[in-house]
Amino acid sequence: MTNPFNDSMERLRSVVVEAKKMKGITIKNETLKILQEAKRSLHVNFPVKTKKGTEIINGYRVQYNDALGPTKGGLRFHPEVDHDEVKALAFWMTLKNTLVNIPYGGGKGGITINPKEYSQDELEAISREFIRQIHTFIGPRKDIPAPDVYTNPQVMGWMMDEFNKIKGEHLPGVITGKPLSIGGSEGRSFSTAMGGYYVLQEAADQYDINPNKATVAIQGFGNAGMHLAHIAVKDGYKIVAVSDSQGAVYDENGLDVEKVIAQKKKTKTVKDFPGAKNITNEALLELDVDILVPAALANVITEKNAKKIKAKIILELANGPVTFEADKILHKNDVVVLPDILANAGGVTVSYYEWMQNLQGDYWDEKTILNKLNKKMKETFYTLHEDYVKRFDVDFRTAAYVHAILNIQQAMIDKGWI
Ligand code: NAD
Repeated sequence: MTNPFNDSMERLRSVVVEAKKMKGITIKNETLKILQEAKRSLHVNFPVKTKKGTEIINGYRVQYNDALGPTKGGLRFHPEVDHDEVKALAFWMTLKNTLVNIPYGGGKGGITINPKEYSQDELEAISREFIRQIHTFIGPRKDIPAPDVYTNPQVMGWMMDEFNKIKGEHLPGVITGKPLSIGGSEGRSFSTAMGGYYVLQEAADQYDINPNKATVAIQGFGNAGMHLAHIAVKDGYKIVAVSDSQGAVYDENGLDVEKVIAQKKKTKTVKDFPGAKNITNEALLELDVDILVPAALANVITEKNAKKIKAKIILELANGPVTFEADKILHKNDVVVLPDILANAGGVTVSYYEWMQNLQGDYWDEKTILNKLNKKMKETFYTLHEDYVKRFDVDFRTAAYVHAILNIQQAMIDKGWI
């Protein structure tokens, strides 16, 4: 199986080689050296009493690089969480935050559990104990977690509450993606999908995709995937396939997205949606669609299936869905990949707005937030498109990496690290 950290480092080194061919761009050896190591990692193993007895729960928090500010990144609950996966995700956060020009370093965390095996009370106990274990490591000016795969505003609420109890202070800025009633932000719940959609609008414009004729397949029907379907269908896109961990459904005439959402809420799966065909998650990726949206887990498009991808545009709402080897094949086949650190940066951007609101104690309405998000995503898309993609004939991922690395490099030079 692909090791996500090794894969991400291989890609980083290859981008640096590519950057050497770009006139006027210099990435220093010291920059590469620093970016190949996670600055701080905390690995905890802690006991929690569950219905199975006393269990030892395994968790991580990685602060990858803090040249630009406090580290920031999500926390996931998943049985496959390990140190290398969290490091890769924290590295991507490092690039993502600076790519959209927000003053954060990159971090990430995770707990190695299958949340579906636990009751809400058990998940609360695990969440609170995890914070007791890592509370000295995080803080509003140090490292700020947020939701990710299988964590949600409720989990963020428990975690913030536990942190505040330990500190004896009200510090809502320690965590983002909270419920609105306790310092969450308007728009945060669908910001990842919304940010991705703003990027897609510009890409569709540049690559002659007509929303009223375009077809879309979405892998993963959680926070990112479900909201994307809901937003895109309203603008005329035809969502022909969606999936979750249990399988995919396909209807060439377009799915009734609102009904699929209602079914997912009721039965916990999109499978067996009336009138649609059940297909596998693998088959969904290979459908003949205009736009493919991986919105579940990493490494789903690899050198094995990259040749079979027929989509014109891949919008990476998931982190790391396309491997390094697959990227090369897709580029050769003229598939435009809008990379994770651009396509899903809307989530962390609105997290940043949430944090700013928490620190100021002043709250903004949804329209203000979405206008700011739209402007940021569009500006970032055009910076990459004009200054790198068109100028140097590179793919969007190379463009995004080079732009982000140059920003971090400048901060590290100015801080005297290099
Ligand atoms: P989520 O837990 O809300 O949803 C995940 C979805 O993926 C679920 O529908 C689940 O059934 C599905 N899934 C799980 N395993 C699968 C498999 N093997 N095949 C197909 N589907 C599978 O998580 P989310 O927050 O929507 O995150 C999805 C992706 O987006 C992750 O890669 C995450 O890192 C990334 N992301 C999320 C945010 C955010 O704000 N939520 C921000 C940036 C990036």
